Amino acid sequence: MNINIPVLIKMACNPSLIKKAWQIHGLLSENEEYKLGNLIRSIHYVLRNERILQHQDTFVLSSFIPPINTRAFNSLFEGIPGSGSNLFENLAKGKRKSPVSVNIDVTSRYPNSRDSNDDSSSDDGKKEFINGMKKESLVYLINEIQDMGVGIIGLTGGEPLLRNDLEEIIQNIDDRSVAYVYSTGYGLTSQRARELKSAGLYGMVIDFQSMKENEHNEKMGFNGAYYYAINAIENSKKADLYTVSRTLCSRELLKEGKIKELIKFLGENGVDEVRLMEPKPFGRSGRISQDELLTEDERRELIELHILYNKDASFPKVSVCSYFESQEMFGCGAAGYYSFIDGRGDLYPCDFIPFNFGNVFETPVKALWKKMYRSFEEPTGHCCSQTYFNQREHDKFLQYPQRVKTLPENCKLCNGQVLPGFYKILKGDRI
Ligand code: SF4
Repeated sequence: MNINIPVLIKMACNPSLIKKAWQIHGLLSENEEYKLGNLIRSIHYVLRNERILQHQDTFVLSSFIPPINTRAFNSLFEGIPGSGSNLFENLAKGKRKSPVSVNIDVTSRYPNSRDSNDDSSSDDGKKEFINGMKKESLVYLINEIQDMGVGIIGLTGGEPLLRNDLEEIIQNIDDRSVAYVYSTGYGLTSQRARELKSAGLYGMVIDFQSMKENEHNEKMGFNGAYYYAINAIENSKKADLYTVSRTLCSRELLKEGKIKELIKFLGENGVDEVRLMEPKPFGRSGRISQDELLTEDERRELIELHILYNKDASFPKVSVCSYFESQEMFGCGAAGYYSFIDGRGDLYPCDFIPFNFGNVFETPVKALWKKMYRSFEEPTGHCCSQTYFNQREHDKFLQYPQRVKTLPENCKLCNGQVLPGFYKILKGDRI
């Protein structure tokens, strides 16, 4: 077990956490198949490769999960459908009545070379934003999402910091959810970071793609991106925001240990958590070619970084998406755990799936989500984005993103075949 012992002791002595744990145990006990020992084993299974951090007065398992001793954390349990003995049954099948995390694209504006030469402390570059979602619509949508019971709200773009009303939007998110801003770092002056913190922002997720300035600038698509990102990390930390870096871990970064150097570098620059993403067939940064996707061995190598670095407190905490979404852990979180809403209001099961299920400004998001979730009810260890991509020829994807009513039939093939590891242990299976 790699967890941070002093933090674990604090958690074990926290009266509200103890109370919450007993309440959950009491509710689950209504099902005779539920065993406390299996619940403890499944929690140990999740914690064994993690390092829990304390951020101010909250305990963080990962930026993918709401901080443990917050109201937002309740969304994990309260989002399970059913009551009485049905509750444990649904938990053990990975069923949800609302997602834990929703990302919303709040602007399509993005820094370009001209913008990046501007003084980012000035408001000049932020006076207007080009985006379909007006502040009022966004606030209304966020209220609806909170009423659904979503624990994490991510504000993405484009570059969300180019909205000068971002703080007002965040102020409307109450403590049922924690908020993260996904950013290139452009415009995150120390003052802006403090303002976002005062508005109630929990954390920043800052893109960081390479230790080489030119390479990072090129990947991010604007001059100065490297320094904006480095300064943003510093300013985010100073403002006491939980600070996460996000890197797309390509084959090239995995090669010759470059990713290890990058993790070390990001730790030296003060990030609390390094998030590593695997290249996916679809994404808002564009489609990638088949040979850019990681092989099974390379994915394993990436997952090993999660296990290796969380053991060593001299490095920052590392969170690898492919680890959480593997067959060994929770499986694909599309729709059930995550959802994504683009700048037009179209609802997707995740940022990397090229199908949307309708528009949240035409159908209330709760009803639309329920409709979408029907295609994803069975947990699966396979990445839906990748599975579908592998079944089709690359040029067939030129027509996406596409509006669908249900997931294509061939995409459902991997649903519910093998229950992911966490759920198996909860049911008492040995793995
Ligand atoms: S489709 Fe892939 S990227 Fe999206 S949630 Fe599932 S595993 Fe993650």
